[in-house]
Amino acid sequence: MTYALVINSGSSSVKFQIVDPTADAAAEPFASGLVEQIGEPSGRITIKHAGDKHVVQQPVPNHTVGLEAAMKILDSLGAGPTQVDVSAVGHRVVHGGMVFSHPELINDQVVEMIRDLIPLAPLHNPANIDGIEVARKLLPDLPHVAVFDTGFFRDLPPSSAIYAINAEVATENQIRRYGFHGTSHEFVSGQVPALLDMPAGSVNQIVLHLGNGASASAVRGGDPIDTSMGMTPLAGLVMGTRCGDIDPGIIFHLARNGGMSIDEIDNLLNRKSGVKGLSGVNDFRDLHRLIDEDNDDAALAYDVYIHQLRRVIGSYMIALGRVDAISFTAGVGENDVATRRDALAGLQHYGIKIDPERNETRSDGARLISTDDSTTRVFVVPTNEELAIAQKATALAKQ
Ligand code: ADP
Repeated sequence: MTYALVINSGSSSVKFQIVDPTADAAAEPFASGLVEQIGEPSGRITIKHAGDKHVVQQPVPNHTVGLEAAMKILDSLGAGPTQVDVSAVGHRVVHGGMVFSHPELINDQVVEMIRDLIPLAPLHNPANIDGIEVARKLLPDLPHVAVFDTGFFRDLPPSSAIYAINAEVATENQIRRYGFHGTSHEFVSGQVPALLDMPAGSVNQIVLHLGNGASASAVRGGDPIDTSMGMTPLAGLVMGTRCGDIDPGIIFHLARNGGMSIDEIDNLLNRKSGVKGLSGVNDFRDLHRLIDEDNDDAALAYDVYIHQLRRVIGSYMIALGRVDAISFTAGVGENDVATRRDALAGLQHYGIKIDPERNETRSDGARLISTDDSTTRVFVVPTNEELAIAQKATALAKQ
């Protein structure tokens, strides 16, 4: 068996998987791990392999110590990347700017190019680079590949990519819609033509990636024509803790009259808003529990979430003209029956009709949840960004 090592390096945590790139999207990875609380006094490394979970509490001052320790634990289990046949290392990189549309074999120059994009993703790209540098030192003989969250949306039509902001200022500051979750939108939309038994080039579809972060895309013939996240992942749908689209004037108001600094506003809109900001919880399981207890704040948060989601779905229906399929994916999209029902309720006159029984039936793989007479077919398609990165890294490493 040949595997890929997939690394998703954040500022205070690193997630990784050793995965068979030919596996089913619902299959458990060969091994997975999480290094948490990097840079804090207490740290934790969790490894899952062969049905067992191994937890080690130890301070993790930086990414190097964290990844080295995690690889040692994997080695002790006989599952280390140099012990099993790993053919490539895939790194999730959040921002590829206008530079990267496809996965890139990493060398020093590519690392510098990712570094040049730090102003566009000041929290994410530095952490991604840390992961790349540490992994290249630990595994110097393997090909390392960068897979960009923005890549799938690199060639959005200008009418959806360009903001109506003074062109000179926008160009100078690289302001445009980049879109995120691209690996997931590409992975999910790529499965739909086979589900419809249609040639990929003729499918018009909407993908709803509803996790803690959430985004939608409209895809025509395999190419995205619009997406809801923007220059940053703050835009678009209401999310677990992010506000999604708001009147930009609110930011001036908070700065001028709310006594808040730019950093405070950034923190408010990214971490203390969205469903959590309205209800106190961001997990949809908690939200539904509160709604069942007649909590008005939770009910309002859910209604605002659904309203914004429907607004985006409606605009993509118009943009596409004909919609062959709508797919729900990620934590909320794959699991929350009510969200799927309410997102598409009352649209039978547009040819969209969810079958309540199919909507409630669970399965591991992709499944149809619309009625047989629904002209737009509605699917739940589990996403697996790690598997998608593993596939891309393996394919590029082979070339
Ligand atoms: P991310 O990758 O953005 O962190 P996920 O795609 O894993 O997020 O989604 C996590 C979210 O999915 C949780 O916060 C929760 O709201 C939702 N979720 C997970 N499981 C369920 C479930 N069984 N029912 C309803 N919502 C769920």
